[in-house]
Amino acid sequence: MRLDLMSRDAVAARIASGRRGVILPLGSLEPHAGPGALGTDAICAGAVAERAAERVGGIAAPALAYGMVQFHLGAPGCVSLRPSTLSALLFDAIVSLGMGGLTRVLLLTGHGGNAAPAQAAIQEVMAEVSLGRLRFPAPVSAKLRAWWEGPRLAALRRELYGDREGFHVTPSEVAIAMTVHPALAVPRDAWPAWRAVAHDPLHDLGGDRHEDAARHAARFPDGPIGSDPSLATAEDGERLLDAAAQDVAEAFAAFEAAPDQSAR
Ligand SMILES: [Zn+2]
Repeated sequence: MRLDLMSRDAVAARIASGRRGVILPLGSLEPHAGPGALGTDAICAGAVAERAAERVGGIAAPALAYGMVQFHLGAPGCVSLRPSTLSALLFDAIVSLGMGGLTRVLLLTGHGGNAAPAQAAIQEVMAEVSLGRLRFPAPVSAKLRAWWEGPRLAALRRELYGDREGFHVTPSEVAIAMTVHPALAVPRDAWPAWRAVAHDPLHDLGGDRHEDAARHAARFPDGPIGSDPSLATAEDGERLLDAAAQDVAEAFAAFEAAPDQSAR
């Protein structure tokens, strides 16, 4: 179910039945090399969230179209929220959803740059609860995860793309975007040629630690980071979307059903 297509009463009825979970997909509007769509991350996170929610009778909120992409500032069409803006926005979203009774919020990101602001937002909410300044109808829990985390999807990415999956403009995300929007399918030679990155220190420790936009552009002039988006097909995209949705559905169901003291 999509939250934006539900009525207030329908949401209230679910909460009364003990279902307090919601998936909030987080995207970005940033270059994705060559013909890649600026909104790829929101398209992917939104599609995975919606399909995961369908699998387990859960709720998926509308995807956030904008994210923290300061390292692409100056690119035509790019919109970046400052880390503090994104954090404040997510704080408000978690608090609003929680006050209305949806107290288990799974932030599902499609973009690594959103991770640190999202974690900060979660801790801001917890701090307000600890200080006794915010009260919710049930204990509030929020959790961050990326749509590509999960065993089924990890195995399928390896099988399909091996060491050409990379980190940005991945064939996986491009394939899913093509499945959702068939007009995004382009000839293979429209993409920049593959360049290997043996090791990308920017993506260590499970988070993005990007420098400024000028140095980022100098380092990755084509856009992709170790990825070969020319391998993407809409057929792969359907399989990848399904695998990711199954992984996320299981994680979300466990999160939503967990006792309050272990929801994190
Ligand atoms: Zn992306």
